Amino acid sequence: MSARPVVRHQYDAVIVGAGGAGLMAALQASRRCRVAVVSKLYPTRSHTGTAQGGIGAALGNLEPDSWEWHMFDTVKGGDYLADQDAVEFMCQEAIKVVYDLEHMGLPFNRTPEGKIDQRRFGGHTREFGKAPVRRSCYAADRTGHMILLTLYQQCIKQGVEFFDEFHLLDLLLRDNRCSGAVAFRLATGELHVFHAKAVLLATGGFGRMYKVTSNAHTLTGDGCAVPLRRGVPLQDMEFFQFHPTGIYKLGILITEGARGEGGILRNGRGERFMERYAPTLKDLAPRDMVSRAIYREIQEGRGIGGKDYVHLDLTALERAVIEEKLPDIADFVRTYLGIDPVKEPVPIQPTAHYAMGGVPTNLDAQVVADARGTTVAGLYAAGECACVSVHGANRLGTNSLVDIVVFGARGGRHLAEQAASLDFAPLPSEPEERAQEELARLCGGGAESAAQIRQELQQLMMDHVSVYRVEAGLQRAIGAIASLRERYRRLGLQDRGLRFNTELQEALELGCLLDLAWATAAAALARRESRGAHSREDHPKRDDANWLRHSLVFLSGDALTLDTKPVTITRFQPKERVY
Ligand SMILES: Cc1cc2nc3c(=O)[nH]c(=O)nc-3n(C[C@H](O)[C@H](O)[C@H](O)COP(=O)(O)OP(=O)(O)OC[C@H]3O[C@@H](n4cnc5c(N)ncnc54)[C@H](O)[C@@H]3O)c2cc1C
Repeated sequence: MSARPVVRHQYDAVIVGAGGAGLMAALQASRRCRVAVVSKLYPTRSHTGTAQGGIGAALGNLEPDSWEWHMFDTVKGGDYLADQDAVEFMCQEAIKVVYDLEHMGLPFNRTPEGKIDQRRFGGHTREFGKAPVRRSCYAADRTGHMILLTLYQQCIKQGVEFFDEFHLLDLLLRDNRCSGAVAFRLATGELHVFHAKAVLLATGGFGRMYKVTSNAHTLTGDGCAVPLRRGVPLQDMEFFQFHPTGIYKLGILITEGARGEGGILRNGRGERFMERYAPTLKDLAPRDMVSRAIYREIQEGRGIGGKDYVHLDLTALERAVIEEKLPDIADFVRTYLGIDPVKEPVPIQPTAHYAMGGVPTNLDAQVVADARGTTVAGLYAAGECACVSVHGANRLGTNSLVDIVVFGARGGRHLAEQAASLDFAPLPSEPEERAQEELARLCGGGAESAAQIRQELQQLMMDHVSVYRVEAGLQRAIGAIASLRERYRRLGLQDRGLRFNTELQEALELGCLLDLAWATAAAALARRESRGAHSREDHPKRDDANWLRHSLVFLSGDALTLDTKPVTITRFQPKERVY
């Protein structure tokens, strides 16, 4: 196939991704420099728009609360792997950023006196673990949707330029300096080279590695795989969170807010089994613990009718609470299961939900290239694709929305300052070369089917790299991923056209998922302990002496290498997690 047409642009800053992190970064940066946002989706279709439950901030509107308690809960929830300087900053800033969003017009639910209403969420407590606290600020069960629309409107007002349905293919990186990015335009198939002083990646998560997931089809980790292939490591990839309450078989999320409002998990005997696993917080224990408890109940034959699911029981809630505070999830349950949650319990199973790992950054969202903390000049990452690390080994509910707006904003400001003082780094002579080669190879006419490879990958990850892991299974997964990567080189596409070639786009996304699955399984095999969302049946205890460390995975050609780096511990020394 002949080379594709190439279009060139120059901007001070390019932000890849238009979810909450990308839009917040764009909004901040555009106050000081010329910004382009490149997004494979129309901005308001980003996954942030599906976030239901809320954004955590210690406003103390209904009962006493403090950012220190929020910090403690986040560190403990993350099984002490989070960097505490980053968590401290996030929990302090959360309060400010929620009021900023309110002032931008975000329609939060209100208390009768007109303050922002708050509800309970898993792992959020008062007085360092004594009892659940109302910390999640919410707009019904559409909090993310409201954040996204609010930020998008502000960006439009601010004159941010958007390149919608442009798909990132490559980063221009040389000698630890980023000079831009290469994308292809879905509508035309042209390549677009963006020459920039700084690039910020905000491409979201990669739950599509798994068969049962709450994540949108587009969450394929492109903004993690592209820098990985350019020599940037990924951090803490073994930690992938399963959310306890996905709709059975479909994986569609039912927010933890449902339990925050009083919903209860029950096994096949009708028992409230979380009382046995977490006597204080019960159904509001952190997600890793609740997901494991559900699997245990199922394994021991106490699923509903002995099957592989349990019930989320909302029948004790008033109809008005469900209709006013959880309207969307009530709709999902009615639409997808034909069940009225006011009257009947809802069948649920854990669903792959959130990547704690990602592109390593410092507190300014600058990408860090090694265990010594060397930064890559002009390259930033924020939001779910990044690992700063505020969630450690397990994220608490409501803390991702905090993370994306807090570090999106901080990254956007830092990047704008840098862009004001930096010159443009020269572009390589043929910046689009790698992207041309990759597209030509994919359109080259092999016999393998992308759909088949994707299906096998998702099943494999579900079987061997999900809630419980064991050495033999991880090794099997790594071997199988290697052969899937091999088959991927011989893909055959039906559509070789330029315009709206979604088959090509999906093939690119599959390539990213394969690399990220490999990194996840390799990091999971290396970590011989159980911590947070990483639970090794053959190493069931947490091992602080050897493993209180972040992991790093590097990819070079067809070889993965691993390294580790220390965790920043300031206020809270690791303790056993009891809830
Ligand atoms: C169903 C659901 C409910 C959730 N509920 C909550 C909640 O209540 N509270 C909470 O704190 N967290 C919640 N989360 C998690 C949280 O919503 C996400 O972690 C967060 O919104 C991610 O934001 P982001 O800006 O990093 O990425 P996203 O919002 O996922 O946006 C990614 C952006 O990157 C772009 N992109 C990706 N790849 C490319 C590419 N190759 N080229 C160009 N652009 C690209 C996309 O177009 C998109 O604009 C939920 C998640 C899900 C799935």
